Amino acid sequence: MPEPTSRGARSAPRPTGRVVIRGGTVVDGRGERVADVVVDGAEVVEVAPGATVPRGATVLDAGGCVVAPGLVDLHTHLRQPGAEEAETVETGSRAAALGGFTAVVAMPNTDPPIDSAAVALEVLALGAGATCLVAVAGAITMGRAGERLAPMGELASLGIHLFTDDGAGVQDVAVMRRALEYARGFDVTLAQHCEDDDMAGGGHMHEGEWSSRLGVPGIPAEAEEMMVARDIALARLTGGRVHFLHISTGRSAEFVAAAKAEGLSVTAEVTPHHLTLTHAELAGYDPVYKVNPPLRCESDVRALRAACMSGTVDAVATDHAPHAPERKDATLDVAPPGMLGLQTALPVVLAALAHGPGANGAVTHGVSDGPGTMSTRDILGLMSWQPARIAGLARDQGGDQGGPIEPGGPANICVIDPAATWEVDASRLASRSRNTPWAGRVMNGQVRHTLFRGEPVVIDGEAQR
Ligand SMILES: [Zn+2]
Repeated sequence: MPEPTSRGARSAPRPTGRVVIRGGTVVDGRGERVADVVVDGAEVVEVAPGATVPRGATVLDAGGCVVAPGLVDLHTHLRQPGAEEAETVETGSRAAALGGFTAVVAMPNTDPPIDSAAVALEVLALGAGATCLVAVAGAITMGRAGERLAPMGELASLGIHLFTDDGAGVQDVAVMRRALEYARGFDVTLAQHCEDDDMAGGGHMHEGEWSSRLGVPGIPAEAEEMMVARDIALARLTGGRVHFLHISTGRSAEFVAAAKAEGLSVTAEVTPHHLTLTHAELAGYDPVYKVNPPLRCESDVRALRAACMSGTVDAVATDHAPHAPERKDATLDVAPPGMLGLQTALPVVLAALAHGPGANGAVTHGVSDGPGTMSTRDILGLMSWQPARIAGLARDQGGDQGGPIEPGGPANICVIDPAATWEVDASRLASRSRNTPWAGRVMNGQVRHTLFRGEPVVIDGEAQR
């Protein structure tokens, strides 16, 4: 039994046959070309137009489709161990495969949290037979309590590349400084959920026009921005590498842009919902729209879209946060924050960044006249090869994610039909939970097939196991 690692590089591939993905347009970090893709075992063996179909091969139709490296999610809550009623590694990774993901980074805010090699190995072992790569992030501090540092060196030796106390930010500046100095020795990245607890003060939504109108305690934008600014200062001071999780305000994006211009080692992600939804969604007190960080203003949505287009934002990450109905279907003040994301991420992001003004209004709501449109390839960069690099899963980092799709390369591939429309049926999602804001909405763009290490885990939109 090979030892599991967070890159999964040493786990044995499942036996798979030959697969031909026929008639699509291959889009990866190298460029775009019309070609068939022939896969043998876990490897791509040929990328060429009109490739010969080997005898006995499974042929997957990709006519009119984009054939891309599998998507990589930097921010997935799989809830195992500790909250298996909401999600498990198996159900979450199936949802991921259906969403086109071939890798997810499991967040460490489980119960117990991933602050030891024992718990990390437990999650990696659960992920060993999953339908996508399950990498794990380790906690920065023991118990995510923000006081004593977790054994990052030991966790890094398991291939863990990202560390975070997500769910909360590291509040104590001296602890965060020490963590960054310590992390440098292992060449790992600290991922921060930026939120100053004193400033957030138990709020349930964005502090602004809507929180006043609804009489709900709010979380000001500054609660996030203060910590983004603080951690940029710490990145400068320590030379450490910081990844900003789910930035949600225009000013956070401005701070990140300035830090990058200065040459600091910082990266940032946004979620699909922060690119599409605003605090106005809370008008009916529906807890499905309660997320952390909260949905912000229309000006923030526009600024975040612009930050994706300018390169300030490196990745879209789902923050897939399943909650069992008995907990989530509660009043706004007691419902836990978070929404599902894996199965809807791609069409929601396409609606926000690709389709342009007026299109897909059911998803983009009032925020329809964005700053422009992005190419499919640039959007795939945000969802595949750029997050693969941040997660330490790219090929030149010892991993097998993010492409490119070429002979000799790993067969982690998603096939996307950009023209397909489908209605989100919450009862049919693979997740154990149902807390999606997109139930009943029509999506443009659908994942048709997903190959994980050569195995077709999704064919024609259906999970194969
Ligand atoms: Zn978070």
